[in-house]
Amino acid sequence: MIENNGVVLVLSGPSGAGKSSLINKIADDIGEFYFSISTTTRPMRKGEEEGVHYHFVSEDEFKKDIEDEHFLEYALVHGNYYGTSLKPVKEALSEGKLVIFDIDVQGNTAIKNRLGDITTSVFITPPTLSELKRRLEKRCTDTPEVIENRIQMARREIQRTTEYDFLVINDDLDVAADVLRQIAITARLKIPQDRINFFVQKWEDIEE
Ligand code: 5GP
Repeated sequence: MIENNGVVLVLSGPSGAGKSSLINKIADDIGEFYFSISTTTRPMRKGEEEGVHYHFVSEDEFKKDIEDEHFLEYALVHGNYYGTSLKPVKEALSEGKLVIFDIDVQGNTAIKNRLGDITTSVFITPPTLSELKRRLEKRCTDTPEVIENRIQMARREIQRTTEYDFLVINDDLDVAADVLRQIAITARLKIPQDRINFFVQKWEDIEE
């Protein structure tokens, strides 16, 4: 069982939504946080670094980690495995930190099931599908086939936006960052169910 002193902020949304830029923009304003670095079997992109963007592993290594129950959650996304390691998250939560995940809709469901009462979830998206396509093409990190896959994936993911607490439309980066900043600060105020129950018991301090 995970000690619930910290809280969780889940960020989902298509690649190209600007999640990383938004986090970088608000990083200095939201107090101490731990950004969960996922493990993936996807090949490293130009400009990415091991241990910074992801832990890059082979499929065999990933499957071994699944067997050893090292993941809080994992999913197959665009044909590659992505997973959140349990240990660092557990540590960060026990230190009372805000733990931020950049994970897909499947991951959000898994986190909701395991840590629902301390989780705030946000779906981040460009204003339209054509704008997403434009940003992915401009990024020049993916082949046309990969971009097409990401677009199809985004079409499916946007249908599940209602599963999130908040929707952030990243049209203007500064405006979207302002909204996300407020959400991240408020996420810290979430109180786990057992603490609420404890408070309610204590609150009844008049004997009848
Ligand atoms: P990308 O290949 O663009 O870095 O990420 C592709 C998708 O995988 C994104 O939607 C991202 O949020 C998701 N993703 C990254 N890490 C994880 C993870 O640990 N778990 C899950 N479920 N999804 C992840």
